[in-house]
Amino acid sequence: SVFGYPDFSAQAKIDQQFLAVPDAKLAGEELKTLTAAPHIAGSKEDHDTALYVAEKFKAAGLDTSIVTYKAWMNLPKEIHVTATDANGKVLMNGPTPEHVDGDPFDDDPRVVTAFNGSSPSGDVTAEVVYANYGRPEDFKKLDDLGISVKGKIVLTRYGGNFRGVKVYIAQERGAAGVIIYSDPADDGYFKGDKYPKGPYRPDTGVQRGAVQYLFKYPGDASTPGTASTPDLPESQRLNPATAPNMPQIPSTPISYHDAAPILAALTGPNVPHEWQGALPFAYHVGPGGVKVHMDLKQDFAYRDIWDVIGKIPGTDWPDDWVVAGNHRDAWVYGAVDPNSGTAAMLEAVHGIGALLKSGWKPKRTIIFGSWDAEEEGLIGSTEWAEDNAAALSHAVAYFNTDVGVAGPNFDASAVPSLKEFVRVVTKEVPAAKGGNVYDAWKKSQSEGESRRHSANEHLGQGAHQNPDVEIGDLGSGSDYTPFIQHLGVPSTDIGSSGPYGVYHSVFDNYNWFIKNADPTFIYEQQQARVFGIEILHMADTDVLPYDYVTYGKEITEYLEAAKKKADESKVTGLDFAPALAAAKHFTAAAEAVYKKQQSLPANPADLNTQLRQVEGDLLSQAGLPNRTWYKHTIYAPGEYTGYAAVVIPGVNEAIDAKDSARGAAQLTALTEAINRAASTLETAAK
Ligand code: GLU
Ligand code: CA
Ligand code: ZN
Ligand code: ZN
Repeated sequence: SVFGYPDFSAQAKIDQQFLAVPDAKLAGEELKTLTAAPHIAGSKEDHDTALYVAEKFKAAGLDTSIVTYKAWMNLPKEIHVTATDANGKVLMNGPTPEHVDGDPFDDDPRVVTAFNGSSPSGDVTAEVVYANYGRPEDFKKLDDLGISVKGKIVLTRYGGNFRGVKVYIAQERGAAGVIIYSDPADDGYFKGDKYPKGPYRPDTGVQRGAVQYLFKYPGDASTPGTASTPDLPESQRLNPATAPNMPQIPSTPISYHDAAPILAALTGPNVPHEWQGALPFAYHVGPGGVKVHMDLKQDFAYRDIWDVIGKIPGTDWPDDWVVAGNHRDAWVYGAVDPNSGTAAMLEAVHGIGALLKSGWKPKRTIIFGSWDAEEEGLIGSTEWAEDNAAALSHAVAYFNTDVGVAGPNFDASAVPSLKEFVRVVTKEVPAAKGGNVYDAWKKSQSEGESRRHSANEHLGQGAHQNPDVEIGDLGSGSDYTPFIQHLGVPSTDIGSSGPYGVYHSVFDNYNWFIKNADPTFIYEQQQARVFGIEILHMADTDVLPYDYVTYGKEITEYLEAAKKKADESKVTGLDFAPALAAAKHFTAAAEAVYKKQQSLPANPADLNTQLRQVEGDLLSQAGLPNRTWYKHTIYAPGEYTGYAAVVIPGVNEAIDAKDSARGAAQLTALTEAINRAASTLETAAK
């Protein structure tokens, strides 16, 4: 039996009708059109892609609009990074333009030079300290070595966390600036052949990216919690330059071509073994041997960005929105990130458009969002979510896809209540290479493929309760964040990964894509089908298919792990008993509700309202300490990870900070949230 359907054969018929439509060849053409020119958020070319997506939405019969927001964003005016040795001899004069022989796209004059979104301007000359991945434990290691980063330029490599976290910790420790480079060990030749021969990062390839403190809040810096509409006056905005999600020290990304001379000249102690990258010399921590001059002139302004919104009104429950989205803006061409997801979304829209033309209508309202300015800090999705917060408080799901296809290995993250839902969906969809997606997913996961290659870390680790395919926890780094963590809309994130070393560089283009990711676009078609079936199932199911039994068990597991950590780190005064009792109560009520969900009540509207309320009950109106925009008591992006989720964040982060008073208060807030949810489940079970 399939959860939520009195008669799954009716749904299966719609599914089959839909599955026949998404077209590999068309997806390839759409990808080619979307990536024909660099289209950074706010540019003319970005606007052109909005018009193109809007045309596709309209052609499918969606009620379509382009919604403009105004966001504080920088473009690089001038970026200089030079290195000199003790005698003043120039070792490097960068940045070196990104180039390989044989790439047809890298010399377009519209390519915006590599920079960090949200970095302030700055002109700094200083000695350099190498800080490995710039994680808390790396800075701690520097302490152990007796090396301070105060007044220094921190040179750190990509990987291990969100780049904004590297800058955040460096700023906390008084660094003058930060340079972030891609080491060949992490996504270059140490992994395999470099582009254009293979998929990995060539010497001059640079990972652009936002260093916004997204773990404080994402979106436009001047409007946390409210929509940055074009007419909102500056008097009602924070001063963006000093806003809490804006870094206060300058930073910029460079290639390993430009980082190598700096690293090679650094003196000081040899690095700890694990800090050694794949450049052909022994790394030293510094400081000494080299001085770097970094001169960044950023052009900050309020710029217009454009979300494309396409709606299909629901016949039975029009206020129960099913929202599905993907960002459209790219640092450069964005063939993988994000337009492999956009092409898949357009083919899902194509399939749903065909159903509409055959007379089918969804029971719930479907909304597609083509978000802008995700790269600068989830801006388009966050502003739209804040703008529509009241309606979204009862939206039944948000389905995200960002990197739709970087290779053949399907993967997903989700709230626990939707993990089984994703598994059911993937069993309905034929896999690109035969069988169904679920089986292919299970196989690639058992062979350890699915998470090994992803250079962007959107897809978190996780999954606990089910001895089944693992589904990750939602952290951050993509557009589901405002939906799940600010508004409590149950969310999923899906994509397909593979060897991918050109993330956020000029080389993430159509040529790279057809050589390395999906030459015949069969994974595009697969992704369109999975995305579309998620939407169709959620739009038409009678009883909402949230699995709260798994949710309750996972919460229990999180509490037990936190209790153990508190004991081990000797943080006293935390009484976990009430929270554990609440979780037990939650799980027991969920088991009763699960039976009722399967018994298919004649009029499921009240049950559905209660089922949806449970996720909302898990929000705390006060939000997390020091980052009150984050309201969810179970999931948040880690303050010191950025991408990876921290579970029961209020409690775990207080334990990490050895702050038992804060921990006790957070445990109380968490217990209240779990009890609210448990009593809603109890009502639902009646
Ligand atoms: N996907 C973007 C990144 O990982 C998000 C940036 C942000 O949220 O600030 O760089
Ligand atoms: Ca805002
Ligand atoms: Zn992306
Ligand atoms: Zn990106």
